[in-house]
Amino acid sequence: MKSYSLIAPGKINLYLEIIGDRADGFHELVMILQSIELADVIDLKSNDTQGITLHCNHSQVPVDETNLAYRAAQLMCTTFADSYANYGGVDITIAKNLPVAAGLAGGSADAAAVLVGMDLMWNLGLTQPELQDLAAKLGSDVPFCISGGTAIATGRGEKLDLISNLNSLWVILAKYKNLSVSTPWAYQTYRKNYRNSYVSDVEGIISRSDRVRSGDLMNAIVELARSLAPIGGAGSLVKQKGRKIGELLYNDLEKVVLPEYPKVAELRDIFADKRVLGTMMSGSGPTVFALCENEDQAEEVANQVRDTIVDSDLELWVTKLGSSGIQVA
Ligand code: ATP
Repeated sequence: MKSYSLIAPGKINLYLEIIGDRADGFHELVMILQSIELADVIDLKSNDTQGITLHCNHSQVPVDETNLAYRAAQLMCTTFADSYANYGGVDITIAKNLPVAAGLAGGSADAAAVLVGMDLMWNLGLTQPELQDLAAKLGSDVPFCISGGTAIATGRGEKLDLISNLNSLWVILAKYKNLSVSTPWAYQTYRKNYRNSYVSDVEGIISRSDRVRSGDLMNAIVELARSLAPIGGAGSLVKQKGRKIGELLYNDLEKVVLPEYPKVAELRDIFADKRVLGTMMSGSGPTVFALCENEDQAEEVANQVRDTIVDSDLELWVTKLGSSGIQVA
């Protein structure tokens, strides 16, 4: 009986711009996605039955077919029916460390881990593009979760170009445990309020994403990554380029989420007043993140925020930006 343990890191959005509507009902986006080291751990064990089981230690996570990790296993079983018949089903156990419904792609990361793990368990030898094609059938963020690091994502988020990564920086994540924002609500509200700014022609879409590809944020990311590569961290450059990156963080969904969720807006304002490189809401929220130069600064600011907002519902995590997607533990 084969078993694998996989690390499934979450992500933050350094940039999220909504370009327009798509025929499939999703939005045309241009994003810069960044892995974080905070990760779920997924254990996979082949079983001798023709079935899938799923266990999770988090009460807000469904353990039925609505769990994205479960759907990933179903997809593998239907796509590779011979292997399924040969090896049997799979028992999935999720140790949830990523906050749920937080804009950090927790479900997508778990699903990506199941695809990678079942590929290994069944000796399929799938290539990264093949895994990413399967991943795109499950959700827009799943392909990125497979490869991880730093990437520019277009289309509905599934078309990826990897950028040299930024894993020298640290990040604070802050989320109210009992506050969640519906991703469909956020996008629908954005559409209702900002439809007149949408671009629908192909040239317009390409030019909006090209503007980001050759823009200041991308340049700052590439320069910082390049300067770190040979020496593993030059202090003043990290500060200078990190500040530039912090200033240029952007998320269109803040325009609809912050006015509706004053606690999220307050968190963001509090971080903005602290000694951090920059702060932004991740994805459709409600997690707010703050980029920091190093671990000490991140811990210090996290403690200051804990002292400022005395609310047992507020949770904070300090983690490093990550350089990889799904890894075998
Ligand atoms: P994204 O950033 O991709 O929008 P998210 O971080 O906002 O994702 P998730 O943590 O993936 O959100 O959870 C969104 C919802 O999906 C949850 O409310 C939960 O009911 C459901 N869900 C399904 N599968 C999972 C999973 N494996 N882990 C967490 N939530 C899951």
